[in-house]
Amino acid sequence: MPDVPPSPTLSKSRFSAGLQCLRRLYLEVYHPELAPEPSAAQQALFDTGNRVGALARKLFPGGLLIETPYDRHSEAVEATGHALSDASIPATYEAAFAHEGIRIRCDVLQRNGDGSFDLFEVKSSSRVKDEHIPDVAIQLHVVEGAGVRVRAAHVLHINTAYVYLGGDYDLHGLFQADDVTSEAREFLRDEAPGKLAAMWEALRSDEAPAVGTGARCENPYLCPFYDYCHQDFPEFCVEQLPHLSGKLRAALAGAGIVDIRRIPPGFSGLSAMQQRVQESVVGGRPFVSGGLADALAQVREPLHFLDFEAVNPALPLFPGTRPFQAVPFQWSLHTLDSDGKLRHQAFLHGGRDDPRPAFAESLLSAVDGDAPIVVYATYEATRLNDLAQHIPSRAAGIQAVRSRLFDLLRFLREHYYHPGQHGSFSLKDVLPALAPDLGYGDLLLREGSAAALAYEKMLWPDTPQEERERLRQALLDYCQRDTLALVKVLKALRAQVG
Ligand code: SF4
Repeated sequence: MPDVPPSPTLSKSRFSAGLQCLRRLYLEVYHPELAPEPSAAQQALFDTGNRVGALARKLFPGGLLIETPYDRHSEAVEATGHALSDASIPATYEAAFAHEGIRIRCDVLQRNGDGSFDLFEVKSSSRVKDEHIPDVAIQLHVVEGAGVRVRAAHVLHINTAYVYLGGDYDLHGLFQADDVTSEAREFLRDEAPGKLAAMWEALRSDEAPAVGTGARCENPYLCPFYDYCHQDFPEFCVEQLPHLSGKLRAALAGAGIVDIRRIPPGFSGLSAMQQRVQESVVGGRPFVSGGLADALAQVREPLHFLDFEAVNPALPLFPGTRPFQAVPFQWSLHTLDSDGKLRHQAFLHGGRDDPRPAFAESLLSAVDGDAPIVVYATYEATRLNDLAQHIPSRAAGIQAVRSRLFDLLRFLREHYYHPGQHGSFSLKDVLPALAPDLGYGDLLLREGSAAALAYEKMLWPDTPQEERERLRQALLDYCQRDTLALVKVLKALRAQVG
């Protein structure tokens, strides 16, 4: 039977939610239905976390996994008690504890010879982040409150210096344990009592705390209630101002301004780009630089339009690569010929071997010649640099391709802004403003991170062939759409100047 607590309890994730925002904590406990279901990309990240967690356990051989589900916490606590009192069990995974209304599960508790334990929190990140310290601290508080002596607490994260050599991972190379005992104890002493008191008070309240929106809504995590809390915001809210600093945000809030259209002329602290956005929104028309026509005249057919997709997994896929190293696996290329004809070519690596050699060879032959290659931002240039280093024999050719890149994002920032961009220069936001007839809504994949995860899933040996085919087509469709979007944006810009 699942436990039914008489009053709300805290957990690691709820504590973390409460640190971000008391309103978020309240909504998570009482109104979780107001948050959307996790996206496929978020779900895939959870899956990666689970795979990393399972691998990390192998660093502590002979341990016992407390398999009792999370919703049967009392049972899990009891099973944990048995495991900890059995000196023959060197480590316990998913150990469960409860103390002062807080329920936690520890990734790993390792037994020491002196009757104490070492605590390990596994993170699929490349380093210890600030937000990991409270996460470990709350576990220390509960484990020690439950009567277990903890000698040291660690964050066990991925070591980015590790180079995968193929076969099974060398776990001692892949993982790195950083001792955060003193930082966690300092947090427990100085900050946790006040934070916990505020959380319990919020949870006793009859309604969600009236916390104002701000930087906290996206930091350190995008809040799952973001859309709910921002639903009544004006169409052009000040949060859309590019690179909005805390100082400007506070100044605008102090003046009671939430709508860009209400910012008075001459309001101090706006950057040149923010002023451009404001003037464009207030005037209800795009900003077009005086130099746009001349600049566009320099960009003539034949033109290539290029986009890469790369994968950068925590657990390296290919021998010779490091954790989180970006490995390109797919490109899409539209070519606009001098006679106005549009052609398309694509590459998507299908095998389980390193995609980079085939990626580079196919690309070099596809962009033969000297036509400019339109890209969006600097991602392709960075990947080409990586490729040149990885394949020295083709470095000259790859660098020659790189020298032909034309960054449409940089061009746009300099010459154009449409109020429909809502402060963003992301291609996904620029496209509906400039070329509303083309979008991503009909596609299975709609963003680069989802594409990378789809590619990983395509490589998993247990992914059924039918699903693999579906993902392959989704990847081809997505990347093709990105380069078609570049063509459309350039044509839309040309239409602005006649
Ligand atoms: S969106 Fe912002 S204000 Fe709303 S719950 Fe989340 S962090 Fe708090």
